[in-house]
Amino acid sequence: MDRDLVLLSLMRKFEEEGIECANALPLSSKTSFKIGGPADLAVFPKDEGELEYIMAYLGDREMPYIVIGNGSNILFDDAGYRGCVIFTERMNKVTVDGNRITAGAGASFTALAVTAKNASLTGLEFAYGIPGSVGGAVVMNAGAYGGEVAQALESCTLYDAEKCEVRILTKDEMELSYRHSIFSENKKYICISATFTLKEGKKDEIDAVMRDLMQRRISKQPLEYPSAGSVFKRPAPDLFVGKMIEESGLKGYTIGGAQVSEKHAGFIINVGGATAKDVLDLVGHIQGVIRQNYGVEIECEIRRAGTGE
Ligand SMILES: Cc1cc2nc3c(=O)[nH]c(=O)nc-3n(C[C@H](O)[C@H](O)[C@H](O)COP(=O)(O)OP(=O)(O)OC[C@H]3O[C@@H](n4cnc5c(N)ncnc54)[C@H](O)[C@@H]3O)c2cc1C
Repeated sequence: MDRDLVLLSLMRKFEEEGIECANALPLSSKTSFKIGGPADLAVFPKDEGELEYIMAYLGDREMPYIVIGNGSNILFDDAGYRGCVIFTERMNKVTVDGNRITAGAGASFTALAVTAKNASLTGLEFAYGIPGSVGGAVVMNAGAYGGEVAQALESCTLYDAEKCEVRILTKDEMELSYRHSIFSENKKYICISATFTLKEGKKDEIDAVMRDLMQRRISKQPLEYPSAGSVFKRPAPDLFVGKMIEESGLKGYTIGGAQVSEKHAGFIINVGGATAKDVLDLVGHIQGVIRQNYGVEIECEIRRAGTGE
């Protein structure tokens, strides 16, 4: 069947089931970089049942798909995405049970830190200010200022799109390391929710730590511009890419609308009208300079997605 007809029939099917959908949704409106062309089909499941329903139909029609949380670590192509983009933002239920918090993949990671604080639970302070979803944070093993998901995670409920089943993995089964999880190699896994085990703490002390971390972010990061955070992974624990980029004189280096931030050289910012190509050309330039100056290969932390990937 013609691809457009397949997409149309999928959209009808999902809408009949009451699932929110959109066609030709500009991905620039859904990413922190403000870059990306249209998604053929965008779907917004609100729970596990709707997600399973969507996955069954996408699998049947062999339709490419990608799952997106808050779009704060992704660079979509200028041509957009040929297939279905599944947004988890409506799967955002959060429950507190004693010292355990379970959150849907689409819940805000920063809001989760606030929930923990309000319940006088310590262990998620580092999450305050990370602009991702819980799912995105688990997938990336997100971290900041000495904290990371691995320190607080108890388990993760995921959908295995190959076996068409829901499974629960314990933290030890999640293969968590620096910006890596079991999701990194298993593109058919979708995080549905995650449970964190925290410790009892004092609300005012937790609040003070969170405020301090936010202040540090505001003073060091170019939050006034669209970006996707730190572009590159640290190549080794003691090697800081931002410092190497700065020492190489690349602060302010600009290609099109993409610029190495003057405030934090590890960030590429969209100073206006940046395309994915501008960002990728700038990434390539930085990698070349760092290779030449330090003999070090730097790898992107930001994920890429585009035509049929
Ligand atoms: C200003 C700024 C500051 C930042 N600071 C930090 C920081 O301090 N520490 C840090 O670690 N990161 C930081 N980031 C990067 C980013 O916020 C994190 O990586 C975050 O965890 C990404 O979550 P997300 O929901 O936005 O993921 P998305 O960008 O939506 O997706 C990222 C990847 O995860 C996959 N994914 C998302 N949700 C799911 C799911 N439910 N199941 C399966 N796969 C999924 C996507 O397909 C994609 O490959 C920053 C970004 C910005 C813009």
